[in-house]
Amino acid sequence: MTDTTRIVILGGGYGGVQAAKLLHRKLGARPDIEITLIDTKPFQTLMTELHEVACGRVEPESVMITYRKIFGATRVAMVTDRVRTIDFEKRELVSDTAKYGYDYLLIGVGAEPEDFGLPGVRENAFMLWSFDDALALRQHIEEVFREAASERDPQKRSELLTFVVAGAGFTGIEVAGELKDHRRVMCRTYHIEESDVRIIVVEALGWILPNLPSKLQEKARRYLERRGVEIMLRSPILGAEKGKVLLGGNTGIPTRTFIWTCGIQGREFAGNLALTKGRCVNRACRFSTTQSTCGVKNCTYAPGQYVVGKRGRLLVNEYMQSVDYANVYVVGDAAWYLEGGKVLPQIVETAVQTAETAAHNIAAELEHGPMKAFHSNYHGIMVSLGAFSGVAHVMGISLTGIFAIGIKHLINIVHLFTVAGVNQVWEYLKHEFLDVKNQRSFIGGLAAYRVRGYWPLLLRLWLGFMWVVEATNKMTEGWLDFSSGQSKTGWMFSPGVIQAGVKGAAFGAATGASEAAGAAATSGASAATAAATSGASAATGVASSAGVAATSGASAAVGAASNAAGAAATSAASSAAAQVAGQAHAAPGPWLDTTHNILDPSWGIVTWFRHTFMDGIFAHLPYTAFQVLIVFTELLIGLALFGGFFTWFAAVASIGLCIIFTLSGMFAWNQAWFIFAGILMMGGAGRAFGIDSFTVPLFKRWWNGTRIARRTRFYADEPTK
Ligand SMILES: Cc1cc2nc3c(=O)[nH]c(=O)nc-3n(C[C@H](O)[C@H](O)[C@H](O)COP(=O)(O)OP(=O)(O)OC[C@H]3O[C@@H](n4cnc5c(N)ncnc54)[C@H](O)[C@@H]3O)c2cc1C
Repeated sequence: MTDTTRIVILGGGYGGVQAAKLLHRKLGARPDIEITLIDTKPFQTLMTELHEVACGRVEPESVMITYRKIFGATRVAMVTDRVRTIDFEKRELVSDTAKYGYDYLLIGVGAEPEDFGLPGVRENAFMLWSFDDALALRQHIEEVFREAASERDPQKRSELLTFVVAGAGFTGIEVAGELKDHRRVMCRTYHIEESDVRIIVVEALGWILPNLPSKLQEKARRYLERRGVEIMLRSPILGAEKGKVLLGGNTGIPTRTFIWTCGIQGREFAGNLALTKGRCVNRACRFSTTQSTCGVKNCTYAPGQYVVGKRGRLLVNEYMQSVDYANVYVVGDAAWYLEGGKVLPQIVETAVQTAETAAHNIAAELEHGPMKAFHSNYHGIMVSLGAFSGVAHVMGISLTGIFAIGIKHLINIVHLFTVAGVNQVWEYLKHEFLDVKNQRSFIGGLAAYRVRGYWPLLLRLWLGFMWVVEATNKMTEGWLDFSSGQSKTGWMFSPGVIQAGVKGAAFGAATGASEAAGAAATSGASAATAAATSGASAATGVASSAGVAATSGASAAVGAASNAAGAAATSAASSAAAQVAGQAHAAPGPWLDTTHNILDPSWGIVTWFRHTFMDGIFAHLPYTAFQVLIVFTELLIGLALFGGFFTWFAAVASIGLCIIFTLSGMFAWNQAWFIFAGILMMGGAGRAFGIDSFTVPLFKRWWNGTRIARRTRFYADEPTK
């Protein structure tokens, strides 16, 4: 061994990624350890969603998570390469162009479809076990519909519009469910009657979804059949030829689309490694007593007999170590391990949990800790029947319909959060709900419709303009005129709070004014305060019919009172307030006076907020700085929104200020539109006829490369480093 211990993970699927993350967590702080992940692609493929890509529900990007996104802030090095073989004696992985040495190796290369040696299947069927498979099938489906649209020969047309799915396991059923949804979209696009399209699931067993309780099997079957999917049970496929799937009794189904989902085996790559393969304990062979389903071609052993496979999965012990080399671990679909006499199923939970065991044990060896044996902890199976329904058996509970599909989404979200954080969850929500096309989500297109950027353009300009008006009004009212005694030291603060930097004399006058119960100044102050508080929103309303001006009116009144330096101003404010209050009493009020504050200044939440934040924190700021800050923040928000420059941040600041004003008891109902308009602006409104259309891509590129973005995985789109 060199000074550095090299851990190489081959295969960045569910197992490999989980192992790399755990190894980084356990050993990442040790500079003497290198962790490298090698995969043929620079991204992890979310295999469980491949059928959605193949059948056009979501875009291909939705099943890709770049390793950069997952490992950007870790010490896991990523290499994109296809390893051809492994020399276990030399401890070397060999690709066409490079060799990679290792001290510990974790193999998680997954599986590939098994055709059981049936003639013509591999040549004529579409498989669905990789990103490329899904893209090829997606393109093919589009092509056959396009061709069928202009095909006049009924025989050929029927061939084009017949889709045969071989196998009614969860992959086959998910594909059939997705195809039925896709049929609606394709038929609409190519002007084809839906009844002309046949989707046929062909299964050798007498039931579908063998891993689910029979009630759920039945429900899934009925759901699909009611929607025009034909399910042929007890119909073993004997082979395929160009344009035809061959069944027993010399019958066949003419089709141009034959999708094979029947079985999987270990990868040929793994099968060729000089490691012991799994032993077949096949008890219920699906096809004949002389053919195994374990991945051994032309097996001549009777079901139940042990055989050493020529190809297939790699035999491991309870620590997930290869039985041949203690420094080689195998996880996921590639591993062969018998637990309680049953071979581990090739599912995501197996991949994740075997990876956890293997990563723990590699770390234990390096840290001289105890190794742990593998114990599975499966939670259940969820199967989608298209976008709108599903069946699931989770922790002993059977679910159907939107509950089943809902739980599948939830589990996916939790998984993605653990893999790549909140960013990936957001991507998932976008792909599955917010950007989904043709209403293909269980909430339909409810969340998917998008407003184009030019519609909110005028609103953006108006919102920006209003903030500029607000800031300008404050300036003309003397907010920045510190020498003339017009500035608003009391704004948003409780009476009696001394803000940093307020001159003793002036403040003394102000305090005296607010505290002396019978004095004229006091009554002016309190009247004006009351005015701003309740009825006086009316004063505000009088002052301005535009929503924004109301705020400045209110704050002007309150400020005038607490300032209390100019008795004339105070009494003017007080009489105005009294007058308005009188008016308010005279006439019956409306059901909701929209000029009234949303939160009354006398309410507990407002006094708490004012005391905690305004009096408690901001009062430490020199009042001059505070007022300059408020005025310029408003001005900047306004200009930014107007120009569409960093609109997202300006909108957040705008909403933030409105919330502060509301909690300070100074924001009226008729100003609430500020908040809702701000929310709309956050959706990229600055990129339509705004500077953001140039700056946002640059900003994203910069941000995505920062350490903080990588550490928090809070990327805007894809990381740049
Ligand atoms: C359509 C479909 C639907 C499925 N639905 C479900 C489901 O609903 N629930 C469920 O639990 N399971 C489901 N599965 C099964 C599940 O996806 C697998 O069990 C799981 O992906 C296994 O994880 P893994 O890490 O072992 O391998 P994989 O996720 O397959 O990853 C293997 C990785 O190894 C890489 N690799 C392979 N060979 C090499 C090489 N020579 N050099 C470099 N890299 C290599 C590959 O590029 C790949 O990234 C589904 C599978 C499919 C295909």
